[in-house]
Amino acid sequence: MTNASSPDRSFFGHPAGLSTLFFTEMWERFSYYGMRALLLLYMTAPVAAGGLGFDAAQGGAVYGLYTSMVYMACLPGGWIADRLIGQRKAVLYGGILIASGHFSMAVPSLVTFYLGLLLIVIGTGLLKGNVSVIVGQLYSAEDDRRDAGFSIFYMGINLGAFIAPLVCGYLGQQVSWHLGFGAAGVGMVVGIVQYVLGSRRLGDAGLAPATAASPAAAAADRRTAFMWGSIGLALILIVGLGTYSGMLPITAMQISDAAGIFLLLSTVGFFGWLFFSPGWTVGERRRLYVIGVLFVAAALFWSVFEQAGSTLNLFADRNTDTSLFGLPFPSSWFQSLNSLFLIVLAPVFAGVWAWMAARGSEPSSAAKFSMGLVFAGLGFAVLIGPAARAEQGMLASPLWLTATYLLHTVGELALSPVGLSAMTRLAPARIAGLVMGVWFLATSVGNFIGGRVSGFYESFALPTLFTAVAVFAIAAGVVLAAFVRPIARLTPATPADRS
Ligand code: GLN
Repeated sequence: MTNASSPDRSFFGHPAGLSTLFFTEMWERFSYYGMRALLLLYMTAPVAAGGLGFDAAQGGAVYGLYTSMVYMACLPGGWIADRLIGQRKAVLYGGILIASGHFSMAVPSLVTFYLGLLLIVIGTGLLKGNVSVIVGQLYSAEDDRRDAGFSIFYMGINLGAFIAPLVCGYLGQQVSWHLGFGAAGVGMVVGIVQYVLGSRRLGDAGLAPATAASPAAAAADRRTAFMWGSIGLALILIVGLGTYSGMLPITAMQISDAAGIFLLLSTVGFFGWLFFSPGWTVGERRRLYVIGVLFVAAALFWSVFEQAGSTLNLFADRNTDTSLFGLPFPSSWFQSLNSLFLIVLAPVFAGVWAWMAARGSEPSSAAKFSMGLVFAGLGFAVLIGPAARAEQGMLASPLWLTATYLLHTVGELALSPVGLSAMTRLAPARIAGLVMGVWFLATSVGNFIGGRVSGFYESFALPTLFTAVAVFAIAAGVVLAAFVRPIARLTPATPADRS
């Protein structure tokens, strides 16, 4: 399964299989971010302009619901791969569902729009977390190229995320919304073809599910999957057909509210179970508390950062001058800046942390998270002035949003790769996969809140909204900074956390 005996170095010093997974995830993210760049703009565009004519509140509700469910689906997606089908099949099926979802959205009707979103949620749940798990399986436990491998992989994510809004945003905003969605689907098809052709390179990584304790346990897993799958499908059919036929008077807003409560309850329930389960050692329990603190900080960070596709996308579209040297460009192109900055800055950050580590002064994970939150807040703080002028009808210079995305990328680099690595380091080994799902749960909560915040775009004064977000994030960063030392006392196991 691993290449420990004769390390394969054919892809930038890494196993050849990393190239297959790099391009699979690149194309999957191409489709995700290409469609996401258009999603809220399409929903809130007037019907006469080919959009759905939603107001910001309704659009934000659907947007928040969709983007949070996409990440939440990674939890069951991980379980299905672990217990039933293995990661390799999960990625393949996920890719096919995602492509089908985008093509469904390429058909101009409300039913195919919602059906498309649903297919992408299920598909991404199967693909996103599991493709990372296969990356991990390319390396043996002793292989110290693992972290670097994940950094290369994170570059693949951002390469896809960088190109997507340029292509899909242009096609969607300048030609037709549905062509933009279709282009996202074509990207995923390229990714699937490439994944299948390159699968030889993966050896047997992720091929088989984890061996069940007994045939009875395996059968019980299949029954559980069947039961929850049926309940989920039945619920979706009832709500879908009921609202479509007008028999169930439920609005998208109410569904989104219900999902928010579901998300909150499952998060609280999950951590309750984690903290109060007997059987953890004292050290494990302490590390679980640290995971809990980092989870809250990450969820708050993503709730600010993920407004890229919601509030900030609306600010780009409605209140920013979208021309450069007199040449107009589609507002969705701003979505590419984060990835562009990330690709440029990632090696700088890796170098700085390594340099600080060599001098024994690398900040702890919690300190880096605190920095991430402060930078997320600063990204909104720089927009307060331009937002005040926008209220008077003046378009903001595109440089303001550029500054926002630069600050947000610095925050992301201080938090996101650090978080992935902290989760694997702090998790008790027997729930490592579950803890990775917890990481995506933080993204899910963040996306939900971030989507809902954009719902205030039309009902709040913009400078007030941006000030509130900035103060909230900076205050959270300062509160977390106060936790850095107590956390270091809880987890003295690693040099970086001993500071
Ligand atoms: N941009 C990264 C990705 O798409 C991280 C997203 C997140 O976790 N919020 O994978």
